[in-house]
Amino acid sequence: MGHWYAMSEPATLTLTDLPRRRGKAPRHLADLTRAERREAVTALGEPAYRAEQLSRHYFTRLADDVADWTDIPERVRLLLAQDLLPALAHLVRHVEADAGATRKSLWRLHDGTLVESVLMRYRRALARHAAELGGETDEPVGHERVTVCVSSQAGCGMACPFCATGQAGLTRNLSAAEIVEQVVASARMLRRGEVPGGPGRVSNVVFMGMGEPLANYRAVTGAVRRLTDPSPHGLGMSARGVTVSTVGLVPAMERLADEGLAVTLALSLHAPDDELRDELVPVNTRWRVAEALDAARAYFDTTGRRISIEYALIKDINDQAWRADQLGALLTARGRGWVHVNPIPLNPTPGSKWTASTRAAERMFVETLSAHGIAVTVRDTRGREIDGACGQLAATEA
Ligand code: SAH
Repeated sequence: MGHWYAMSEPATLTLTDLPRRRGKAPRHLADLTRAERREAVTALGEPAYRAEQLSRHYFTRLADDVADWTDIPERVRLLLAQDLLPALAHLVRHVEADAGATRKSLWRLHDGTLVESVLMRYRRALARHAAELGGETDEPVGHERVTVCVSSQAGCGMACPFCATGQAGLTRNLSAAEIVEQVVASARMLRRGEVPGGPGRVSNVVFMGMGEPLANYRAVTGAVRRLTDPSPHGLGMSARGVTVSTVGLVPAMERLADEGLAVTLALSLHAPDDELRDELVPVNTRWRVAEALDAARAYFDTTGRRISIEYALIKDINDQAWRADQLGALLTARGRGWVHVNPIPLNPTPGSKWTASTRAAERMFVETLSAHGIAVTVRDTRGREIDGACGQLAATEA
């Protein structure tokens, strides 16, 4: 594993940076639908077409300096910027791993709240390798994949005992724009060539950072719309490239199926039996394994999008062959070809009583599932040494 190093020093705190009262972020262009943006600019006494000009600057040109808005008269630039493009996230610092191909950013929000996002660049050769192995990528071979892992909440209320974010509880929901801003900021870093490998673009967004996305439903679906709306109204990403990961909030999964978004849904299962899952994913006491799997299958039926089952392999806890067998039976009982399983070796959090499964146990788990005819891809542990891997995001300013 490579070593990590800080790329930038923590910004000096100035008076204007001092935390404001904890709470909702100021309204931003990326919170609004197309119609709402037009209303907002006309409310300022400006023609409605300014909404599209602003959207183009933000989503398409990724401009972060009003001086570049040359198609808008100087006298109204500041007014529009203050009203519709308030600064939402200040970069505190970022750290790199994998020779710069993995970059974790720590953001300070308007009220002092801290959240993290992670950018992962998969070089062409790696993407091709994954495709040859029958990996999870849907991209045509030869195209590089750049994934941004975003936070949807500061902290998390789901209290999964193996997850770093789950330990501190929920601070607050993020706004749609605070989520989008993590992607836009990453897109700027890529376009400017700040990430090794030359200028690039974000191809995938996964809601696998801090928080439970379906517990912040409105903001998350709003953010997904901004990501997938065609340019200049949004970032123009493919919904196939967006993955929303959930602990299994069944009513919200059902609602998401009817949203017309067709994003990929990942279900964090971690155990096939209620007894163990009650401990690993406490919300299981509310919605049982069978209910979560039924909702996942229904999501596939409605959207045609294959479900990902997330399964952190924890040594001697959930990695037994009989559990793999039970999982295989539960999944195939609901049909074939609708699901694939993503086991991931546990990233132990500081002070954790649990560790990752052995290689042998991992192999056995994968083989047992494969024997049921289920597609399995072991997830890599990118960013592990910068605490940027799954379940390690904790956003402390050490
Ligand atoms: N709240 C969402 C998103 C959480 S992070 C959810 O639970 O799905 C995305 C994935 O990382 C989830 O599957 C989560 O269970 C997993 N995860 C959390 N902590 C982990 C850890 N320490 N090691 C490996 N995976 C972990």
